[in-house]
Amino acid sequence: MAPTTLEIAFTRGREKCSIIFGDKLLDQVDLELFSGATSLAVISDDNVVKLYSGKLLDRLSGAAKTHLITIRHGERNKNLATVGMVTRKMSALGLDRKSMVLALGGGVVGDLTGFVASIFKRGIKYFQVPTTLLAQVDSSIGGKCGVDTAWGKNQLGSFYQPAAILIDMSTLDSLPEREIINGLGEMIKSGIIANRTLFKAIESAEQYSIQKLKPLVKDVCMIKAKIVEADEREANLRNVLNYGHTIGHALESSSGYRLSHGRSVILGMACEGWIARELGIFDRADYDLQNSLLTRIRSQFRVEARFDPKVVLSFAVLDKKNIGGVVNMSLPQKIGHMHSAGDKYTTPVSKSLLLKSLQNLRNGVD
Ligand code: NAD
Ligand code: ZN
Repeated sequence: MAPTTLEIAFTRGREKCSIIFGDKLLDQVDLELFSGATSLAVISDDNVVKLYSGKLLDRLSGAAKTHLITIRHGERNKNLATVGMVTRKMSALGLDRKSMVLALGGGVVGDLTGFVASIFKRGIKYFQVPTTLLAQVDSSIGGKCGVDTAWGKNQLGSFYQPAAILIDMSTLDSLPEREIINGLGEMIKSGIIANRTLFKAIESAEQYSIQKLKPLVKDVCMIKAKIVEADEREANLRNVLNYGHTIGHALESSSGYRLSHGRSVILGMACEGWIARELGIFDRADYDLQNSLLTRIRSQFRVEARFDPKVVLSFAVLDKKNIGGVVNMSLPQKIGHMHSAGDKYTTPVSKSLLLKSLQNLRNGVD
């Protein structure tokens, strides 16, 4: 497959960001992308390094001096201590303002590397090279980056756009099965918020495997790219990408990150969809359609609802989208269409309704 390119043009008049797709792209990355780089550092985690860093570094060595910085895999390492370690190594290696970094890995590596690139020497150029389904369809696109803290997920971060996003589809072939659900959660979300045909395509599969989902990756990227293009700084429309995430993030943080992002978002959409239905916003038939897909997926991937609703609520109140103690959510109206009132894509939700949705999910009540 020859590489294909999709461009995102940002509202703020800065340079465009290209998303380049290809099978075996790592072997044929366009070295022009790195022109002017004094050195290139690949930042990756200990799992991905073993699989793909050799290939990428070989290719990059044709463009500039290369370095490899390895972090430990896992959400637990997406924190300030790792930022400290990585930036210390970058300094020790002599990286300067014209050096560029590449985030080779999943969302953990991508979020952390983007944040590091945004603060190193007040900002250097960086590239996303996503290797998980979640990172390819979601986290590598849009420029949100950051780290977790003791008081919550993604609490420190910035908006910092990569120069380009390089998607090598063949890297998905080595992805462990348990990681599929993380990307799948975001894919279903994309269908619900913006594209009914995509939702139907996902729904039509009986069992979910990487090979079945790969052909849909580009469509999902396109949805996110268009939304980010229209509202880079999440002033309004971009909030729709947070569907399922207010409760999802609260479930994830309150579990100490034992519950993965995708599993949390699947449960989050079940709750937030229920809230939307209770508020008379979500079409009842579409709510049922959403829920039967989520239920099927929860059973294939054994996603259990085991949590204390009151504890989860206390985390949801900390969500970044909340202003003045009111919990704000983006809610669906139909599958493929999000609700807006007076042009605003977020709706205030009372804490009591939020608690009820969690209690119902916990007790298996619809
Ligand atoms: P991850 O980065 O932890 O990767 C999952 C696991 O897969 C890791 O163990 C990793 O080493 C391994 N791995 C990665 N690529 C592989 C491959 N090709 N073959 C084999 N193993 C591979 O998890 P993730 O699900 O990619 O990302 C989750 C993170 O993304 C969370 O921190 C979440 O907050 C963030 N996120 C960010 C955004 C955003 O807009 N910035 C959006 C969604 C999620
Ligand atoms: Zn997400």
